[in-house]
Amino acid sequence: MISAGARCRFCDAPLKHTFADLGMSPLANSYLKREQLCQMEPFYPLQVFVCEVCYLVQLPVFQNPEEIFGDYAYFSSYSETWLQHVKSYSDLISKRFLIDSKSMVIEIASNDGYLLQYFKGKGIPVLGIEPARNVARAAQKAGVPTTVKFFGVQTATELAAEGKHADLLIGNNVLAHVPDINDFVKGMKILLKSKGIITMEFPHLLRLVEENQFDTIYHEHFSYLSFIAVKKIFDTHGLTLFDVEELPTHGGSLRIYARHSEDSSKIVCRAVPEMIDRETRKDFTNLKYYLEFGDKLKEAKRNILKFMIGLKKEGKTIAGYGAPAKGNTLLNYCGIRTDFIDFTVDRSPHKQGQYLPGTRIPIFHPDKIKEERPDYLLILPWNLKDEIMGQMAHIRDWGGRFVVLIPDVKVYA
Ligand SMILES: [Zn+2]
Repeated sequence: MISAGARCRFCDAPLKHTFADLGMSPLANSYLKREQLCQMEPFYPLQVFVCEVCYLVQLPVFQNPEEIFGDYAYFSSYSETWLQHVKSYSDLISKRFLIDSKSMVIEIASNDGYLLQYFKGKGIPVLGIEPARNVARAAQKAGVPTTVKFFGVQTATELAAEGKHADLLIGNNVLAHVPDINDFVKGMKILLKSKGIITMEFPHLLRLVEENQFDTIYHEHFSYLSFIAVKKIFDTHGLTLFDVEELPTHGGSLRIYARHSEDSSKIVCRAVPEMIDRETRKDFTNLKYYLEFGDKLKEAKRNILKFMIGLKKEGKTIAGYGAPAKGNTLLNYCGIRTDFIDFTVDRSPHKQGQYLPGTRIPIFHPDKIKEERPDYLLILPWNLKDEIMGQMAHIRDWGGRFVVLIPDVKVYA
């Protein structure tokens, strides 16, 4: 496929180079209800570009964000690993930056309040900003004040006018999902107190490329971020990155720390030039690096299909575990439907009883695994592999084995 006049969302240069082309795919979070099975589904090009000027890896927006995020089915609170991760973050950050009852913690894309609840528990005032109505309602019910809005200059200006400014402004796994990244970062500058800090987490592009995490590409995920690209965007909007950490979450993420460029009270840590150096040595400022990913992608598809076809020829049964967005990219790209996978299961009651978009694989309660005793359990959220293998250890009672397909096909007996 070629680009249809799309431009870089940061620097506005025309997008001419393909990073990854996954063909046509449905929106990864558009789970289907039973009555929708006899209807057609919209498919959109899933083609990621790299900007030859600023090296931002990105997917042009095909759908308006209200449609994508209006009734988002993802509730953060369901993963234990993730809850432990954010709890230890809340302890660490309040200690390091002396966040207390006189501070204000604001989180953008606060979901169901899974993170803010820990600050609230410490007696720290909090405010969530969350565009998905159903998810925001769950947060409000749990006692986490939440504004139902998309974040950008307009929302930031409105909150600032009400006297709301952040000592700590958090955005986890949101920067990549923002269609207008300039408006979003400008908004953060407005909402941040003069000595406040921003922390954000996002999956690191370096890990996507090196560990072949092509299934983290889906329509709701607009940008695939390197430290170098993010630093350029923050610098442009008067925010300075003063620290960075690597995290194991989501297959390998970065946590960046930012402050106003005018705020000299926090020095830039050594980790910042070190990360720039590391990405530069990997060739992140060379177009060729990005253009090589496409072949890796096709090779992965061939290997996955070869493995799945082999199992079916032996008469094995395969069930899925999980119904994450990344699973939908993988299954649609590889063309894996109920001809390979009988069903999948998910702990979230919001997904049970529905069907995966495109592939229409049914989603059941995890108890279904015990009833059906599949020979292989394909773990779709591979980033939670250890947690899931622990929870589902009983499949070994009937000789069941776990399978993970990313970065390579791997069977765990
Ligand atoms: Zn650009």
